[in-house]
Order: sequence, then C-alpha cells, then structure tokens
Amino acid sequence: MRSHAKVVVIGGGVVGCSVLYHLSRFGWTDLLLLERSELTSGSTWHAAGGMHTINGDPNVAKLQKYTVDLYKEIEEYSGQDIGLHMTGGVMLAATKERFEWLKSIVSKGQYMGLDAQIISPKEAHDLMPLLDPDQFVGALHDEVEGHLDPYGTTHAYAKSAKKNGAEIELHTMVKDIVQRTDGHWDVITDKGNVVAEHVVNAAGLWAREVGRMTGLELPVLAMEHMYLITDDMPEVMDFNKSTGKEMMHAVDFDGELYLRQERNGMLMGTYEKDCRPWSPTETPWTFGHELLEPDLDRITNELAVGFTHFPAFNDAGIKQIINGPFTFAPDGNPLVGPIPGRRGLWSACAVMAGFSQGGGVGLALANWMIEGDPGFDVFAMDIARYGDFATLPYTNAKVRENYSRRFSIRFPNEELPAGRPLKTTPVYDQLKSAGAQFTASHGLEVPLWFSPDGSVDQFSWQRSNDFEPVAAETLAVRERVGLMEISGFAKYSVTGVGAEAWLDSMLACRMPALGRMCLAPMLKHDGKMMGDFTLAKLADDEFFIAGSGIAEDYHMRWFDQHLLESESVAVKSFGLDLVGLSIAGPNSRKLLEAVTQSDVSAETFRFMDIRKMDIGMATALVGRVSYTGDLGYELWMKPEYQRVIYEQLMKAGQRFGIRLFGLRALNALRLEKGFGSWGREYRPVYTPFECELSQFVALDKAADFVGKEAARVARDSGGGPMRLRTFIVDAVDADAIGDEPVFYKGEVKGWLTSGGYAHHAKLSVAVGYVPVDIADELDGWEVEILGERVGARLQPQPLFDAKGACRR
Ligand SMILES: Cc1cc2nc3c(=O)[nH]c(=O)nc-3n(C[C@H](O)[C@H](O)[C@H](O)COP(=O)(O)OP(=O)(O)OC[C@H]3O[C@@H](n4cnc5c(N)ncnc54)[C@H](O)[C@@H]3O)c2cc1C
Repeated sequence: MRSHAKVVVIGGGVVGCSVLYHLSRFGWTDLLLLERSELTSGSTWHAAGGMHTINGDPNVAKLQKYTVDLYKEIEEYSGQDIGLHMTGGVMLAATKERFEWLKSIVSKGQYMGLDAQIISPKEAHDLMPLLDPDQFVGALHDEVEGHLDPYGTTHAYAKSAKKNGAEIELHTMVKDIVQRTDGHWDVITDKGNVVAEHVVNAAGLWAREVGRMTGLELPVLAMEHMYLITDDMPEVMDFNKSTGKEMMHAVDFDGELYLRQERNGMLMGTYEKDCRPWSPTETPWTFGHELLEPDLDRITNELAVGFTHFPAFNDAGIKQIINGPFTFAPDGNPLVGPIPGRRGLWSACAVMAGFSQGGGVGLALANWMIEGDPGFDVFAMDIARYGDFATLPYTNAKVRENYSRRFSIRFPNEELPAGRPLKTTPVYDQLKSAGAQFTASHGLEVPLWFSPDGSVDQFSWQRSNDFEPVAAETLAVRERVGLMEISGFAKYSVTGVGAEAWLDSMLACRMPALGRMCLAPMLKHDGKMMGDFTLAKLADDEFFIAGSGIAEDYHMRWFDQHLLESESVAVKSFGLDLVGLSIAGPNSRKLLEAVTQSDVSAETFRFMDIRKMDIGMATALVGRVSYTGDLGYELWMKPEYQRVIYEQLMKAGQRFGIRLFGLRALNALRLEKGFGSWGREYRPVYTPFECELSQFVALDKAADFVGKEAARVARDSGGGPMRLRTFIVDAVDADAIGDEPVFYKGEVKGWLTSGGYAHHAKLSVAVGYVPVDIADELDGWEVEILGERVGARLQPQPLFDAKGACRR
C-alpha cells in the first residue's frame, strides 16, 4: 500500500465510491480509498436499490436528479452492468392533505425542470394496476424513478474511479486518524500508515466510530429497516406479459410503504412508526455481510394498510424478509462538507438514500474539496447545520422521529416535538407562560407566536388559527411597541489589533466608524454570497457581528478557514453566552428612555449607532436597528441580565401598549419592508447584485476582500442572471411560503424564496428570484400556491416606510 496520498476516502460503500469517482473525474490524482472488507460491506449491499428525484427540499431534489442522470454514464464508462430498471413511479395520496402536499411538490419541482405530473387514482391504476384506486384521492407520476443493483452500481463508481487512476485497497481497516503538526493526517491502518492531505469519512454504518477517532460525535444513527419480497405473483407476470413493461414503483404515503417489482414478484418496504435504532451507542466492527432478525410484529399495521391498498398481496406468499441497518442524521438529510474545526477532514456520511443521493453527494463534495465551494446550495445537507447541541441522545430522539415520519406530511406550520426543549434562554419560562408557541432553531427554543387563549397551532396548508394573533402582534409593532427575544441570532466577537484589517479583507462592506454599525455582506471567492451580517465597531480592536442563527457553525467554519495563525485576530462565537431582546415600533424610543439613564434621543443615538448602556441596574449593548423596519433597538446582554431587563421592559412598556411578538410576525414585518433573510433570499448561489445588496458592496474600497475581483467581473457583466423581487399575490386563504414557481406570461421563470401575509399592509406578499431582463415588469406575473396559479404584481417599493422615515 502507498504511504502518501492527496486524499484518503474511508469506506467503500456507494457513497465513498462516488466521492472517489468524482474526485478522479475532476482531475485530482493521488487518490486512495480504504475499505475494511469488500466494497458494499456496510448498508449498501442489502439496499432495495430504489431511486427517485422527488424531495421536499428542491436543492436536494436537484442533486437527486443529477444522481439518477449519472447512472447511464458510469455504466458506460466502467463497463459494469448496474442493473438499471427505469420503471417510473407513482406517489399516492389517500387523503386530501397528502394530495395537497403532492401538488406542492410538483409545483416546487417545476423551476428545477423536474417533470412530474398530478394524475387521478384511475390514471395511477392504469400505470400500476396492483393498487386499488378507490383507496386514493390522487397521485403524482414521475418517469424519472426506478431501481438498480446496489452491488453493480457501487462497482461501476469504483471501476470508473480506477480507470481515472484512483486506487482502492480492500481488507484495509482504518484504526485511527491523527492530525500532524503540518496539518496533514496520519491514517493508521492494519496494513500500515498513509499520510494524507485530505481524509473523507464515508464510513456509512461506522461513520460515528470513524468520527470518534478525531474526537467528534457526529449526529448519525443507524435504524433497522425491513422490506419483504413476495413469491411470484400472477398479476405481476400477466402485466409484464401484456404490456412488455415492468411494474411501476409506488410510494404509498398513508401506508408508509414503498413498492417495486422484484423478479416475478414484488418488494414492499416500510418506514414503520414502531421503529428501532440499531446499535445506538456503538456499531460493532465485527458486523459485516449480515442481516438482522426480522420483526414482523412491528410492521403489521403498515402491512395491513398495504394489503388493503394493494389487494393482490393478500394472495402472495412471502419469500424473504430483509432487515438491515442504515444511517440517518437528525433531519434525514446527509452530513456533507468540511468538518468544522478539523482542516482537511471531510464528511460524506448519513446518506440515507445512497442510490438517490450518492451521486449528488460525490459531486458536491468533490467540488468543495477541489474548488473550495460545493457549487450548489447544499446547506440542507451541510454538516455545519448541526452544532454541539446535536448530542448522541438528541440524535437518537430526532432520528427516530424522522424515520417514523418519513412518509408523514409536515405542514408548513407544524413543529416537530422530539428532542425538545433542549436549549432555552433565561426568559423561556416567562415567554412560555405568556403563550409562546416555539420552534427550535439550531437547537434553541424560539417563539413563533403568542397564543392568547392557550390554543396551539392547527396544522394546515391554509392560513390557520395563528392568523389573528400574528396580525395583532404585527400591528402592535407598527402602531405601538413590540418586544421579541432575539437570542437565536448568531453573535460573534472579532478582537485584536489585526481585527479591523482582517474584517476589511473578509467582508465586502466599508468598515463602520467607532460606535457605528453597518450591513455587511460576505462573499466567496466566486463573488457570490457567503453571509450577510450586521457589523459593529465597539473599539479600535473590538468588533461585534450579528448574523443568521442557523448558520452560526457554517459561518464560524468559514471564519476559521480564513484565519492565519500569524494574524493578531481572535474570532469567537458567543453562542448563548450573549442573549438578546429587541424592541420595535413607534413607542420603542420612549420605552428605552424609560429604562435607561443614557441619552437615546434621535439626535444622540442615531440609526445604526451602537453603545453599551445600563438598563436599570443591568448592562447591555444596545444597537439602534430593527429587522422589523420600524424604529427599534436590539439589546444584547449576558444571560444573567436577560430576565431583569425583560421584566423592566415589559413593566415600563405597559403604558406604551407593549406586546410580545414572535418569528411569524417578524416575517410579516420584514416582508413588508423588503428585508431578505440568510438561507432564504441570501444564498451562496447568488451574487450580491442579484440579491439587490450592491449598495453594501464597496468594490472601490482599498482592501482586497475575498470575492472582490469576481464580484467586479460579475458587476461589469450585468450582475448575474436573476434579481430578487417582491410581489403582491392575489392569494385567498393560503399564502406562498417559499420554493414555489413564479410564472411570467404563462411560463415558469423563477422561484420564490419566502412568502406570507403582510398584516399591516393587509396583502399577501411573496419574494423570489426572476430573470433580470423581465425583473422590472409590473404585470404578467403568477405564482403557484398549492397547485393553483394565482395572479401577482411586482411591488417595486417596500410596502412599509419606503422613504425611510423610521431611520430618524
Ligand atoms: C434494508 C435497506 C433498504 C434500503 N433501500 C434503499 C433504497 O431502496 N434506495 C436507497 O437509495 N437507499 C436504500 N437504503 C440505504 C442505502 O443502503 C444507504 O443509503 C447506502 O448504502 C449508504 O452507503 P454508504 O456508502 O454511506 O455506507 P455503507 O454502505 O455503510 O458503506 C460504508 C463502508 O465503509 C467501510 N468502513 C467503515 N469503517 C471503516 C474503516 N474504519 N476502515 C475501512 N473501511 C471502513 C465499511 O466496511 C463499508 O463498506 C437501504 C438500506 C437498507 C438497510
């Protein structure tokens, strides 16, 4: 075995082989894959081999489409038969709610070029005659679906990689990974050591154990999964004979089942409610090409539904039951990308649908390693979406929830309860007793809205029971004063004599003056968005940054990657060592004046000023800024002061008509003001010109910041193909939420990033990207909501305070 390699990939399952193939395809050499046994020796060998493009997240759907499209190519290139059966598939809805969900999936897929159609139960039956059409209300038909041979597919990736020069060592077990002082890694195996510049953890069932070799506890857990294979079924053979076709795939969401043809019979698998983790704390290294003991009792409910929905199964004998383990992250999406805090260590694990996603994961990771960027918006599967909060027990709770709900509907207003509450702030109990309905953001409980009568969210695709209370919260902010907890934002400090110069080289904005704040876009080397922050200068050697809470680890990873040891700068993420409250609305200045001795008059404490001040006896860092678009303030304090400051504000606020508000009201408020949000409007696939943030990008500043040259080129060539726009939508009882297609003169031209009801303007608002050449057309627009096209008009000015009066 060689002693040096540019990259060592640990694991020869479908994912590791795909990563190896993609690295070799994009020109990297010196590649080595280490497999402790034979290829496919983890969960890969016993997979059902099903693949499809449909995914609730359009960005993941795009990578799934790439995976499926790749199969012909690797089969031809490698000469390895992958046993591809492109049967097409139907996804079935037995309830009205499920049917609406299917419509929303078709709708979302349109902009991505996914060509799925909504069909009737009768049409579904014509395509897949084993189903009983009376059991269903509608279906989705997608031709890009099928199954393949897991062994052949993995070997096709491996052979293609080898053809490109990559090496694979079988029966070579990685025992440890140790980082050297030069940043390279000693990969210690039972066949000797390899020094590698990069190490990829693609260890599938053992990803957690390989992670532990470097002191990491990756949020990944294996679950048992069962499918059964029937004896030959005459109905299947007759269909094959009369049509010359294979039986189509089917997903029966309400039965929590998936089905496909297997030889002359059928395969039926289920994501059962009564699910079981496998080896929840440690995966035995002795586990290999083995199966687990089937436990039919746990899946009888699902099978009973299956036998009703597909009556021919009642007469079919069961030939075999497979029970095998495979891994999941807490939200069911893969964990891909550079591992925060471990330079040169990469993750390609928790890929629960290796045959739908393996190609896309390999592509994104190879791009990331070679170009420094995945090339797509892959936040949904970026390992940095989890932080320290994703402990082993948390992962266990969330993975079980995710597995058991894999085929369940998640309504747009539905919050999932497992693993909660986990992180809370000192005012959590007070907010809760005031009726707060929480969501969990990066593990933290954050109020969504405040229920005046104790009622909880009624899950719905349409506007629901929170509509009136959220309207009241929104109006309280616009007309009087509202208070919101803002601890969920990410907060960072950048200190040291080199802090300003470093920030000037990282951020695209001009540096603020002492005691001032500014909006601060951060770009990648390709000139596209990497972040969007509020930056404040507190002292010559001290800066404060606030940004997106869900991206705290994502941005910290980027900061770390760009910090040289020689630089006299320290970057720290506060986490919950710093918490926050925000007050906003026309009375907010009077309220602040009532609780502080500091002069906060309009002349002395101007828009975008920031300073430390006492609030009663406690101290806080106060910025004159508000994401609501109103006159408002953000107050940052140590956790021990949050409660007393909250109580003072609420008490003093009574005479100004104070009301608590949550994220849903904030969404309405910021949509009216035209403020974008990281992860929705601002994403790493857009230039700042497409995001309409060009006024904050100082291409003429002296510092040579990351992405400056690429941004200049982008600007000079028109800024990029899309533009962010706000629309007023003729919605009746359901608003856009994001990811829906935008039509111009009847053709899909763009997609939405956010939407909602703007309660102050009393209008349904949607925000999204449309091509630059039509971006200023006022009319001719439609957006699709729940499968229905709804008229829309461009809204060129912010609905609220277009003239910026609230800045005074
Ligand atoms: C019953 C069942 C049905 C399924 N059906 C489908 C389906 O229809 N469609 C679909 O897309 N997915 C399906 N899956 C899931 C699919 O199997 C996984 O998504 C996929 O196999 C994950 O591949 P992987 O490469 O990440 O991991 P694995 O297949 O687990 O591969 C990891 C490899 O790493 C090696 N390894 C680990 N540690 C070390 C070490 N220290 N040193 C050297 N080598 C090491 C292991 O030996 C193993 O070969 C199914 C899974 C099961 C169990």
